[in-house]
Amino acid sequence: MSQNSQPAYPTQTPPPPANGEAATGAASLQAAELLLHLSRLVHGGQQDDKTQALTPAQWTALRYFARANRLSRTPSAFSEFHATTRGTASQVVKSLIAMGLLERRANQADGRSALIEVTPAGHERLRHDPLAALGAAIDALDPQTRQSFTRSLSQIGVTLARHRRAPVFGKCADCGHCDRSQPDAPWCRCMQDGLDGREMDALCVDFSPATSRS
Ligand code: SF4
Repeated sequence: MSQNSQPAYPTQTPPPPANGEAATGAASLQAAELLLHLSRLVHGGQQDDKTQALTPAQWTALRYFARANRLSRTPSAFSEFHATTRGTASQVVKSLIAMGLLERRANQADGRSALIEVTPAGHERLRHDPLAALGAAIDALDPQTRQSFTRSLSQIGVTLARHRRAPVFGKCADCGHCDRSQPDAPWCRCMQDGLDGREMDALCVDFSPATSRS
């Protein structure tokens, strides 16, 4: 039970309904509510002792720009990731730039655009990310459960994104654009460029799940 009097999410199994289909629906809805509850818990108990506390949207943006690849470090890609309007995403980015946590830098690949980068102060702030507690709780699962949990969440993410006609974000290792015929020199068929270790591990707005392209 939580010590801050916030009621813990009810974990009891829902009573068995009359038929199996309804049972599946009730359990799935409970799982969906649990996901929302976890998300609220991450920021609900936040102890941000910095002078400028960040909102959940600002935390999401800071994390996003720290993890996104060069195709994706733009306000418009962030708006897709955060499922919000470009105007709202722009305001969040602007606020973080004003706080010195993000900055605009020239895009070497395209002189007409700029990329958003996390500043050293932004990286320092990320060391106190409230999401770390949830990460630690997931880390405490046994490896097989953790792997299966992560796979299930990815699958749910793909299904929801397709339903909303939103892009799916993912990494090169699972992407249909990634050519790994030469293991030492992975190649992105979308960017028409090589991929280094950092790119392989970054989030990408042009990700296309490998299974959907077969
Ligand atoms: S291989 Fe896929 S995920 Fe990786 S950079 Fe290319 S499009 Fe993005």
